[in-house]
Parts: sequence; structure tokens; C-alpha cells
Amino acid sequence: MLILMKRDAGREDILRVKDKVSGLGYVPHEIPGAQRVAIGITGNRGKVDPELFNTMPGVEEAIPVTKPYKLVGRDMKPENSRIEVGDEVIGGRELAVIAGPCSVENWNQLITSARAVKEGGARFLRGGAFKPRSSPYSFQGMKEEGLVLLREARAETGLKIVTEVKDVLTLSAVAEVADVLQIGARNMSNFSLLEAAGDLRIPVLLKRGISATIEELLMAAEYILARGNYNVILCERGIRTFETATRNTLDLNAVPVLKKLTHLPVIVDPSHGIGMWDGVTAMALAGVAAGADGLMIEVHPDPANALSDGYQSLKPERFKELMEKLGRLAPVVERTLRTEARI
Ligand code: PEP
Ligand code: MN
Repeated sequence: MLILMKRDAGREDILRVKDKVSGLGYVPHEIPGAQRVAIGITGNRGKVDPELFNTMPGVEEAIPVTKPYKLVGRDMKPENSRIEVGDEVIGGRELAVIAGPCSVENWNQLITSARAVKEGGARFLRGGAFKPRSSPYSFQGMKEEGLVLLREARAETGLKIVTEVKDVLTLSAVAEVADVLQIGARNMSNFSLLEAAGDLRIPVLLKRGISATIEELLMAAEYILARGNYNVILCERGIRTFETATRNTLDLNAVPVLKKLTHLPVIVDPSHGIGMWDGVTAMALAGVAAGADGLMIEVHPDPANALSDGYQSLKPERFKELMEKLGRLAPVVERTLRTEARI
């Protein structure tokens, strides 16, 4: 349920409502809005009677929310959420670009990638230290050593770090380094991990599972928000279909659908979406044209020798070209892009 407070509701009115919600055994979520405060109610104790709140001072209306997700929905919060990552924002007018190698492999590979993506204009460096791979015999990542390198790369370039968390066991180690925690497609329905990430306040980049519906993605995000971490960014990265010509089918329909249903930012990962480097730029531009708030792009200085996902990684010079094209597209879709490297 959503409790809309009156425009002139005082602090004491809001606190009274929140206390009542807690007293009934539910969790109140205060959602500040441009005009008025709303209070979302979550919990798994069944329906709440709106009449319990309708007569309280400062309450405009208690509205039942029938969708299986609540906090992520636009009913709860009509305005777009802007997720702050230090001095950067994901979900504003400016496009956010996250780029870097699939995996951290060694210092030279990481810092070369980091300098290249920074020069191209990205503000976020991606790179997995813990890699959940489909095969147990594929490269599993440098793990803790990779985290050390990511920390050093941030210190040297100032780029924000986006790195994947594979399980609850290693969450605290990854959270010490990550500016944004990536929860990958294979973990989208790992509810213990979603809850544990929900207990932190670090922004989470949640990728859509390979056979997850849009509603399932939203419910996975709801797990994180329900624990109080409202800093979630959704990522469309392609789904599995009958098509075998591409690694996945990048579902760009999901972008306008998600933007309608949720206030959370949505980014597109064309690298995993199409799975071949020479299709990445086209699908990146298409993603932004579809309304994405940003992109995640795999970039590697030597794709032929990459330990993971080399065939879908752009060389630095191709990434630069992509960013130049994106800079020309941005004003057409009423977005901005800063491509100059920040010193
Ligand atoms: C990745 O970003 O390298 C990755 C493993 O992505 P996904 O979880 O979407 O497969
Ligand atoms: Mn990858």
C-alpha cells in the first residue's frame, strides 16, 4: 500500500504514520517527492486496511498497490530516480557510460583499459574480479587480487569502479572496493544475495537473468529496495531466445517498458546482448535511442588474448568511435554526454 501525505503534512504527521506502520509489523518506506511525501508499506503479512490510515492527520489517501512489486514502481514514485555514485549520477539527463574489460586479468591489462575508457569519456570502469562462469573450467577471475588492482586503478584514474559480486560469502570484500556492485544475470534470482545487497547502501547494478521476464527483473530489484537500499540500476543484457546467430537477443523492448513501469534508471549492455564486437556499436546506439540512461560496454586492449569475452570486446579505438557517435546521438534523444576526460 502507498500512503500519500498531504502537501502541508508536518514531520510529526509523517512520523506518526511510520510508527503505526511499524506497530502493525510492516516496514514503512518514506519516499520524498517534489510536491509531497509518500510512505510505501512492505511486509509479507497480507493486506493492510487503508481505513487504518485514511483518518490520520496529514494523510491525503491510502492507496492499495496491486502489483507484486511496489517500491520500484512508478505508482510509488513518479519521478525518475537519480542514483548518486560519489560525484557521478546515473539516471539524470546525462548518459552514464560504464566501460572496461569483462575480467580483471593483470595490472597492465586493467590500467591500459582504464586509461583508454577514461580517454574515451567513460566515468565508470567495469571489470570482474569474481566471475560466475557457465563452465567451472573457464577463468574464474583474479578474486581478491583483482579487487586490489581495481582499487589501484581507481586511485590512478579517478574512475568509479563497477564490479561483480558472485555470492554472499564474498560480498563484504567486494563492497569495500566497489562504487557500484554488479549482480549478474546468473544471480538475478539469488534472493539471499539480493537481500544482502539490500542491507548495504552501495548502488547495485542488477542485470536481467537470461530467461527472466521484465516483471521478474522488477521483483528482483524489489528485494533490494525492500531492505532499504534504493540505489538500484537495472540492466538489459539480452535474453535467451530460439535465435542462435547471436549470443543473446538484446531485448530493447524492455527499455521503454521498464521506463514506463519503474522510476529506476535503466542501462543497456550491448556487449553481452549481441555477443560480437562488430555489432556492439549499433546496438549501443539503438539502446540509447530506445531510452536507456546509459550503457555498459566491454573494452579490452587485446581482445584476441582476453581471458573472457574477447570476441565481444571493443578495442580502445573502436570504443572512442562509439563514444563520438553517441555524442552526436545524445542531443537527438534529449540527453547529454561528456566525452572529454575529466582531469
Ligand atoms: C559481465 O558483465 O561480464 C557478465 C558476466 O554479465 P552477465 O551477468 O550479464 O552475463
Ligand atoms: Mn563479460
